Amino acid sequence: MLWSFVRPHRRKLLLGLVLALLGSGLELANPMVVKLVLDTLAEGGGLTLPIVLLLGLFAVGAVLGMYHWILMGTVAEKVVLDARTSLVRRYFRAALIPLSRRSSGELVTRATSDTVLLREAASTSVISLINGAVLLVGTLVMMAVLDLVLVAVTAAAVLIVTVLFLTLMPALAKAQEKAQNSLGLMGGVLDGALRAIRTVKVSRAEERLGDTILVHAREAAEHGVRAVRREAVAWTIAFSGIQLAIIAILGVGALRVASGDIGVSTLIAFLLYAFTLLNPVMELSQSVSTLQSGIAAAKRIREVEAIPLEPAAEAPAGPAPAPLGGRPAFSNGHGPDALLELRGVTARYAPGAAPALRDVDLVIPRRGHTAIVGPSGAGKTTVLSLLLRFLEPEGGELRVDGTPYRELTPEQVRAHFAYVEQDTPVVPGTLRDNLLFSRPEATEEEIRRVVGDVRLADKVDALEEGLDTPLDATAFSGGQRQRVALARALLRSPDVLLLDEATSQVDAITEAAITESVRRHADRAAVVTVAHRLSTVIHADRIILMEEGGVRAQGTHTELLERDELYRDLVAALHIAEVEAEVPEPTAAG
Ligand code: ADP
Ligand code: MG
Repeated sequence: MLWSFVRPHRRKLLLGLVLALLGSGLELANPMVVKLVLDTLAEGGGLTLPIVLLLGLFAVGAVLGMYHWILMGTVAEKVVLDARTSLVRRYFRAALIPLSRRSSGELVTRATSDTVLLREAASTSVISLINGAVLLVGTLVMMAVLDLVLVAVTAAAVLIVTVLFLTLMPALAKAQEKAQNSLGLMGGVLDGALRAIRTVKVSRAEERLGDTILVHAREAAEHGVRAVRREAVAWTIAFSGIQLAIIAILGVGALRVASGDIGVSTLIAFLLYAFTLLNPVMELSQSVSTLQSGIAAAKRIREVEAIPLEPAAEAPAGPAPAPLGGRPAFSNGHGPDALLELRGVTARYAPGAAPALRDVDLVIPRRGHTAIVGPSGAGKTTVLSLLLRFLEPEGGELRVDGTPYRELTPEQVRAHFAYVEQDTPVVPGTLRDNLLFSRPEATEEEIRRVVGDVRLADKVDALEEGLDTPLDATAFSGGQRQRVALARALLRSPDVLLLDEATSQVDAITEAAITESVRRHADRAAVVTVAHRLSTVIHADRIILMEEGGVRAQGTHTELLERDELYRDLVAALHIAEVEAEVPEPTAAG
């Protein structure tokens, strides 16, 4: 799993490995040159050559080391950037329903924090693992060249240290992984809680919610402490092991020098090796632990990358859809006027869940205003999600302009639509960014017009920075946000305008004005609204009444009023709501 992140950089890594091995070679040569200096001194020879050699080794080593450092640092950042790029792109290309099943906080943690864990794991640690092993073996070999008895003492110490280390390592990695998991959970809950901060405060749930979030933080800390403890034990064992080995070497070595088996210079060179022995041991264990946490992070990253993508077009994808205005209609069995068709559509949000729509047949004509009404949970939003391909039907077929959806990419389908969603209508950025979001090429004049259409002109004029005001920095009410979203949708001038309770937070007077511009739009294109106001319903050209995932009745207001009891009930309820809302002058919302 980690390899997939490393692979694109394998050339650079190979170069890094060569550099690292060269560096290790130089390091291994050092004590030998020191021995040469000492031996030359003892024999009364000239010191110039050995000293120059020593300085040369040092200089070359320093340059190589620095280059290696920079090279690996660069690769590490590239790996992180690659992982982030692929995650961010993946999130936006993922199918909507499976994506929205994960908390956005967790998805953010994966992209920001887990990718950091990849950094070392996918670059330095792979090399360190090989280099550390080579250096360890190399050091032992050089020691063996110097003296076999002393190397036996050293090897025993190294063996004990290594075994102890390897037994402690997996537990260490487990603890680190658990800490990271808790962090992801904390991100998820914190994100959700901050979004609902007003509700949290009014419910006076700050303490309570804080506690639940901090449970995860505490878990992370506990696992972190556990990891630190294990780490401390492991390192202490390693350090003490090497220290003890050095003392043993000193003792045994002194005896061997006294008995004349080895020279003092040999003992000194040997000790120099022993002192550096900690380096490969450290390098090895560190790379093992970063590798472990990196593998765990790679696993979590791949896991969110496994969220299914949006469907691709089945048949050869046609050219990008042109706006339909004035194009002759296909003969599609529903008359020339049908723009969108649902035929026998059944849909559910998860396999095994109850269907949200059952066998729905619907036709949306090319022009005019279609209102969808029905009790909450009836499937109104689901119809819009299907039209926009946020959800794929389980059975049946959708068509736009006579072409089955499955022959088009989601992008081609969505090119026909503008949509104002029920919950979060604005995107990050300024007011202008929001308006231009779905049509970046719109002119200043067009922007002015739609801002006027949704009755936001006064508000914009009152803002110091006008259209360039960041939306999150200013007090925009829920109703004003909805109007921004509406303006964006109108600016796009789409074939189909989809409004999902898009004026629910707008006062009745403003709503009447907006209805007027929607009405104008309906003269030349299709408008589908999920309606919640009597005024909208009455003025719609046709009404679709939904109930429990099916279409219960269709027709005009008068027809349905005559024919359908549920419709009469709904209208009566809407009527009462409307009268109540309009008795005190409707200035409250938006
Ligand atoms: P409404 O008519 O109020 O807009 P919806 O179309 O949102 O109703 O919902 C229809 C049914 O589908 C409901 O029973 C609802 O519980 C279910 N549903 C809606 N969205 C989801 C979702 N994201 N995941 C699972 N079930 C959902
Ligand atoms: Mg809805």
